[in-house]
Amino acid sequence: MSSDTTTAKAPDFTATVGGTARIGANRELKRAIESYWKGQTDRASLEAVAASLRGETARQLRDAGFDSIPVNTFSYYDQMLDTAIMLGALAPRFASVEDDLDRYFAAARGTAELTPLEMTKWFDTNYHYLVPELSAQTTYSLDASKVLAELAEATNLGVDARPVVIGPITFLALAKSTDDTDPLDRLDEVVGLYEELLGSLAEAGANWVQIDEPVLCTDIVDGAAATAGKVYERLSAVAGRPAIFVNTYFGDPGAEVLAALAATDIEAIGVDLVYGSADTVASVPALSTKLLVAGVVNGRNIWRTDLDAALATLGTLLGSARAVAVSTSCSTLHVPYSLEPETELDDNLRGWLAFAAEKFTEVAVLAAALNRGRDAVADAFEASAAALATRATDPRVKVAAVRERLAAVTEDQLARGESAGRLAAQQERLGLPLLPTTTIGSYPQTSAIRKARAALRAGEIDEAEYTRRMQSEIEDVIALQEDLGLDVLVHGEPERNDMVQYFAEQLDGFFATQNGWVQSYGTRCVRPPILFGDVVRPKPMTVDWITYAQSKTAKPVKGMLTGPVTILAWSFVRDDQPEKDSANQIALAIRDETVDLEKAGIGVIQVDEPALRELLPLRDADKPDYLRWAVDAFRLSTAGVEDTTQIHTHLCYSEFGEVIGAIADLDADVTSIEAARSAMEVLDDLNAIGFANGVGPGVYDIHSPRVPSTEEITASLQAALKAVPAERLWVNPDCGLKTRGNEEVTASLRNLVEAAKTVRPAATA
Ligand code: GLN
Ligand code: ZN
Repeated sequence: MSSDTTTAKAPDFTATVGGTARIGANRELKRAIESYWKGQTDRASLEAVAASLRGETARQLRDAGFDSIPVNTFSYYDQMLDTAIMLGALAPRFASVEDDLDRYFAAARGTAELTPLEMTKWFDTNYHYLVPELSAQTTYSLDASKVLAELAEATNLGVDARPVVIGPITFLALAKSTDDTDPLDRLDEVVGLYEELLGSLAEAGANWVQIDEPVLCTDIVDGAAATAGKVYERLSAVAGRPAIFVNTYFGDPGAEVLAALAATDIEAIGVDLVYGSADTVASVPALSTKLLVAGVVNGRNIWRTDLDAALATLGTLLGSARAVAVSTSCSTLHVPYSLEPETELDDNLRGWLAFAAEKFTEVAVLAAALNRGRDAVADAFEASAAALATRATDPRVKVAAVRERLAAVTEDQLARGESAGRLAAQQERLGLPLLPTTTIGSYPQTSAIRKARAALRAGEIDEAEYTRRMQSEIEDVIALQEDLGLDVLVHGEPERNDMVQYFAEQLDGFFATQNGWVQSYGTRCVRPPILFGDVVRPKPMTVDWITYAQSKTAKPVKGMLTGPVTILAWSFVRDDQPEKDSANQIALAIRDETVDLEKAGIGVIQVDEPALRELLPLRDADKPDYLRWAVDAFRLSTAGVEDTTQIHTHLCYSEFGEVIGAIADLDADVTSIEAARSAMEVLDDLNAIGFANGVGPGVYDIHSPRVPSTEEITASLQAALKAVPAERLWVNPDCGLKTRGNEEVTASLRNLVEAAKTVRPAATA
C-alpha cells in the first residue's frame, strides 16, 4: 500500500512517447560529430548542434500535445555508454583520456592505443549498444550531470520534462563481466546510486522519472519478477522522489513481473501492447492502483496504427488500471523521423505508413479519443481507416501467383542430394586443390565506385556508362585475383551500395526510402527497405554482373546473393502476415536467382546469412520455432540447384551459441565464418554437433587494417587441420573486404594464398 510519505504527488500524464531518435531529421548530429572527430569543428559547435536538436524534439513533442516529455534520450553515441558514465562505471582503461568528451568517444570508437568497448545488438532491434565492462574491481559512483543538464535545458524551454534512464537490472544484465563475477551481484549497491539519483532529480524539479527495464521482457535474468520487486520496492521507498514510471518493452513482461512491479509503490508501469498482450495486463489485479502507460502505437515498425483497434485495446485497459496514458510501444529511436521527405511514395503506400512524426500524432489522437471520446477526433479516425482500407485491396499486397506457389512448396524442395555425393560431383566439376582459397564477396569500394554511383544519381552519367564503369571495376578485381592465385573468384560487388538494399530495390514488394534513416550505432545510420507486399522478382538481379566476371576468367566465379533471413532482418517487415511467410517469399525469389545463375553456367553460389542469429526471439520458448523457419527459408532459397552446383554461405560471427544446430541444418556445401578467437575453436564447436560439410574459418581479420603475415595464417591453418580434414577446409578472410584499402587487401591476400600453398603438401601427405 502507498504511504503518504513516499507517494509522489505528480499529476498523471495522458500522452507521451517512450523516447525519441536523436540523430536529427537530416542526420545533423552525425555530421556534427564526424566533423568534430576530424577536428574540423570544436566542442562548442558540436554542443550547439546537439542542444538545438534536443530543443526541436522537445518542442515537437509539446506541439503534438504531449503532457509529459522524455528527456535524456539524447546521446552523442549510445545510451548504455551514457548509463555506464552516469554510474561511474566506465572501463578504467579510458581514464587516461583527459577531456571528458574525448574519453567518451574513445570508449565508443577506440584510439590508437585503446580498444573500444564491444558493440552488440540492443535486444532484437537493429540498434547496437556499447557493452559496459564490469568486474569485482568496478567502483560505482553517481554522476548525474548529463541527465540533470538535459532536464534543466528542457525545463527552461517550458516543457514538462520526464528524465529517462536505463534501469539498474537492464544495465547490469546487458553488461559484460571481465572477471568471473556476475555484474548482477552488485545490484544492491547500484540501486543505491539510483536512490541517490531520484533525490537529485526531485531536487531539480522533476515530477516524473522513467526507468527503462526492457530486460524484463526477456529470459536473460533468472528470477526476474523477484528481482524487479525488490529493486522497485526500494526505489519507491525513497522519500522526496519524483513519481516513478517503470517502462517495459520489446515484448511481454509476463504476469509475474507485472504483479511484482505492481506490488511496489511505483506510480506507473509501461507495457508494450504491440509485442506484448493486453490479456497479461488484465490478469494482474494489483495494477488497479497504477497509471498504465499503454504502448499501443508501434515504436519500432513503420505501419500506420489501426486507431479503432488501438482505442478498443485502451478501452479494455481502463478496467485494469487506475488510469491509462497513451504511448508508443518503445522509443521511436528505431523508425525514421518523418514521412514528409518521401516524395516517391504513391498515395496508397503513404497512407499505410507512419514514421515518428506521424506516430506522435497518432498517440495524441488516441489520447484525445480516450479522454474526450472518439467523436472529438472522429475525422482523424476516419482518415486513418480510409487510408488503411486500401491495404486490403491493393494488388501488390497479395499476389495470387506468389501465394499459390508458396502453398505448393513441398519438403523435397527444401532438400538437396546427400552431402558427400554433392561434394564429389562438385569436385569433379570444379577440380579445386585441397584447401581452396576464396574471399567473401566484396572488394574495396574505391572512390571511383562511389563517384560513379553519385554521378548516376545526379544524372551526370547514364545507366550504360555506369555499367561500363562497374564492368571495368569487375575486370580489375578479376585480374587481381588471377594474379594473386586465388582459386574461387568473386566479382567484388562494386554495384552494391548495401547487401540488402541492393536486392530490395530490384524486388517488387519492397520500397526503398529516400530519407528513412535510423541509427544503427553511433554515427552510423541505415535506411532499411520497407517490405509492404508480396515478393516478386521481375527479372534476374545479379546474373549479368556475375557472368560478365566469369567471362573474364577460366577459374570459377562465385555468384553472390543475400539470404532471405538477412534481407528480412534488415528491413521493416510486414505486420499483416507471419515473418515466416515473408521469409519464404523472399526465399523463392532468391531460389529463382540461384537457378538462373546455374543456367548461366555459374558453378558456385554464395547465399550470405550474416543476420541469422539476429532475429532470434527474446523468449527462449519462441526460439526453436524461429530457427526452424529460418533454416527452411534458407534451404528453400538454395535447394533448387543441381548437386553439381556448390552452395556457400557466410556468417558474420563465431560465437554460435543457440544457433549452432541451425548452422549445420542450413546444409550449405561450404560455410565461411568469423573466427575471432581461433580457427580451431570454431571448428571444435562445429565438430561437436557433427557438422561435416566444407568450412572456411576466417584466417584474416578484415576489421583491422593490419596485414597478417604468411606465418600467422599458416599457423592458423595448421591448427585448423587438427580439427577438420583437409578435404573440408577452405581458406578465406573472415568477412567482405569493402571497408578496407586496396593496398592492405592485396598484401593480406597474397600472404593468405602463400600460406595455403605452404600447408597443402603436408595436408596431402
Ligand atoms: N558478401 C558480403 C560482402 O562480402 C558479405 C557481407 C557480410 O557478411 N556482412 O561484403
Ligand atoms: Zn561477414
